[in-house]
Amino acid sequence: MSGNTAKLNAFPVFMRVDGRHVVIVGGGDEALAKARLMAQSSAEVVVVDPAPGAELISWAGENNVTVLHQAYKPALIEGATLVFAATGEEAADAAVVRDAREKHIAANAVDRPELCDFFTPALVNRAPVAVAIGTEGAGPVLAQMIRAAVDRMLSPSLGALASLAASYRDRVEDTVPRGAARRRFWKSFFNGATARGMARGDEAGAVAATEKLLATKGSEAGHVALVGAGPGAEDLLTLRAQRLLMEADVIVHDALVPEAVVAMGRRDAERIHAGKRKGCHSKTQAEINALLVELGREGMRVVRLKCGDPLVFGRAGEEMAALREAGISYEVVPGITAAFAAAADFELPLTLRGVASSMVFTTGHDLKGHALPDWAKLAVAGATIAVYMGRTTAAEVAGRLQDAGLSPDTAVAVVENASLGHRRLAHGTLADLPALAERDDMTGPVLTIIGDAVAGANFDHSEPLSAHARMPQLPALV
Ligand code: SAH
Repeated sequence: MSGNTAKLNAFPVFMRVDGRHVVIVGGGDEALAKARLMAQSSAEVVVVDPAPGAELISWAGENNVTVLHQAYKPALIEGATLVFAATGEEAADAAVVRDAREKHIAANAVDRPELCDFFTPALVNRAPVAVAIGTEGAGPVLAQMIRAAVDRMLSPSLGALASLAASYRDRVEDTVPRGAARRRFWKSFFNGATARGMARGDEAGAVAATEKLLATKGSEAGHVALVGAGPGAEDLLTLRAQRLLMEADVIVHDALVPEAVVAMGRRDAERIHAGKRKGCHSKTQAEINALLVELGREGMRVVRLKCGDPLVFGRAGEEMAALREAGISYEVVPGITAAFAAAADFELPLTLRGVASSMVFTTGHDLKGHALPDWAKLAVAGATIAVYMGRTTAAEVAGRLQDAGLSPDTAVAVVENASLGHRRLAHGTLADLPALAERDDMTGPVLTIIGDAVAGANFDHSEPLSAHARMPQLPALV
């Protein structure tokens, strides 16, 4: 950041340790922690202690770390690249550091910053890629928080991808002209089909994609990810969804995906509102399909962001068919569907031993004519029913289920804006369900769960479903 004149007292460097010795003096927990850290490298780690702890001994045995059961003496650190003083005793640690300095070896004394020549970082390891976080000892907890955030951002397959990149370096230098073309090549390599292949564990596919990229000198075909955004809370997004959002050129999102989630995408990604909210003007499904195909043809990395899970009442089938037909590569990233979020908000077991052992995802929308919907039988047989888009058709749903033989006393739970801070919970019976359609105070998306398992929910934060309708008839509470 400009204007930041603060200077680092400890400067990060990456030190070569392969085939070299690192000596840790001490046998307790601190020594074990340093040994674990150093064992992430290919250094030859040696631990010196006359009476090392049992945990250290067994861990070292499994991790190819040498333990010398003997008292420390200066000769033991001879030739080491790094030395750790981790005896837990100040005088002993100071002696180790003094000996190391005499031999021009950099030393670290655990929890004694004044004795340290170097500090160990919080480490995100995707060898050969490493992210090291240091705070000069000021905030180990802060360093761990940053570490966790960085770890989430980086694909677990990044290391393998970087190794593949190293193996291609010479060929790329021979084939792809230096400058913009080469930058484009590597961007596509790390972001495009090669990276996706590695992420799937499909190294052959990744290699084939790289060969194709070399043949076209870096210009890559587009790709569409159909991504589930979850029910609305930003932290119910999957890590994969978050990563794809960060890499997207274009984000095409539905109305039900909250702004805060759309905002999590790459800052300069183009955002296209595809609409699709009941009663509002929006693009037709055919227009959305055509848009995705067009963006894919332009070579864009597109995230098609849908609320909940993309394969549940998301018309993903039509989008995938259009992409398949146009020969554009795509993938599907699952999300937490509204029924699961609503059940979690209500602490409602969707399956309940001895009560409900199957579950139906259905919609109130396609109840046609007078025929009973085929899932009504399942409801009668004890399945838990999750009804999507069921507010305006609440009366029909309730009527059909009762016609099919379901008791009017069957429990019903309704969640508006599941997973969000302003969610609202309501409960009642099947006989109360028609009241939902009258609740014009509930304007957010609503999910209804019907079945005996609902009785296992927690109603502490829930209001009666038909409160408004019944209020006048309520007996005086004295
Ligand atoms: N693909 C989505 C469903 C899309 S259909 C999913 O898997 O959840 C849209 C319907 O989903 C809404 O009418 C409502 O019934 C439900 N829905 C989506 N988000 C919701 C939320 N946060 N709370 C309650 N219902 C929700």
